[in-house]
Amino acid sequence: QIFMPLNFLGFVYREIRGSLTNIENLFTLLEQAPLIVDADNANELVVTHGEIRFENVCFSYHPERIIIEDLSFTIKPGTKVAVVGESGAGKSTLVKLLFRFYDPTKGAIYIDDQQINGVTQDSLRKHIGIVPQDTVLFNDTLYENIKYGRPDATEAEINQAIKLAHLHDFIARLPDKEQTQVGERGLKLSGGEKQRVAIARTILKRPPIMVFDEATSSLDSQSEQAILGALQEISKGHTSFVVAHRLSTIMDADNILVMSQGRIHEQGSHDELLAKNGFYKRLWTAQQQKLSTHEQLLLDRQAS
Ligand code: ADP
Ligand code: MG
Repeated sequence: QIFMPLNFLGFVYREIRGSLTNIENLFTLLEQAPLIVDADNANELVVTHGEIRFENVCFSYHPERIIIEDLSFTIKPGTKVAVVGESGAGKSTLVKLLFRFYDPTKGAIYIDDQQINGVTQDSLRKHIGIVPQDTVLFNDTLYENIKYGRPDATEAEINQAIKLAHLHDFIARLPDKEQTQVGERGLKLSGGEKQRVAIARTILKRPPIMVFDEATSSLDSQSEQAILGALQEISKGHTSFVVAHRLSTIMDADNILVMSQGRIHEQGSHDELLAKNGFYKRLWTAQQQKLSTHEQLLLDRQAS
């Protein structure tokens, strides 16, 4: 009995040691997701074009509550697809499924026609860069935290990523600059600063597939605009999947999925969705009027 936890700790330790090049594996542990294991005959994922396809995907965290219901969509290579919808709609769950923190209960997800549960998790995560809603920092220097994005990056590349993620002014004000200790035992970063660290990591990694989950939601609109400009440059020619809160940040997306309660409610380009005069149009008008979505939804509810 007593050996069990020790074994488990050993496993966690080896897992962490073995994946320093592959930081996202840590999220698996932190998320306490059921351990997803590679199939016996798992192949390496080969990304040729970067096409993502969700095919009739269903998912529940607990059997009694369906979170994603029969969802299908394709992200064509090199295009940007955005997901919007109320809080709790299942947007982050889609990101977790793509990263294979969980397997769908039905249906399948493919990248360049390879079903993701048939490839090694290492190769899957190597090809996907993710800026999550909550970024985890390690008890290490800011510099090392950024370098985790690509451990073999040169100093020049790291400095470039710092600039593009608009971290340089923040760093210049720190007593030990980029050598400042951060994390639980060091300097606590704000939500927006942590997001910028995650963005810098992704900029360094430059994976063929980029995923942003409300990646700029904690930034003020001025930094947001600047960083979005940088991200647009970097994601050019890459497939990107963007979960957005502020609709103004995804107007340029090739396709926008409007999600509600685990289903796609509407989809199309920004102009197409406005013309539909439906849910998206209401969200858009609400945000234009500087009313928060929440307030608008409350108003809608009261009106109906
Ligand atoms: P969104 O990102 O659109 O706000 P999420 O995908 O995070 O929504 O969550 C969708 C639903 O799934 C929510 O009702 C949420 O409470 C639930 N949920 C999210 N993560 C878990 C989890 N680990 N275990 C159980 N339920 C979860
Ligand atoms: Mg979310």
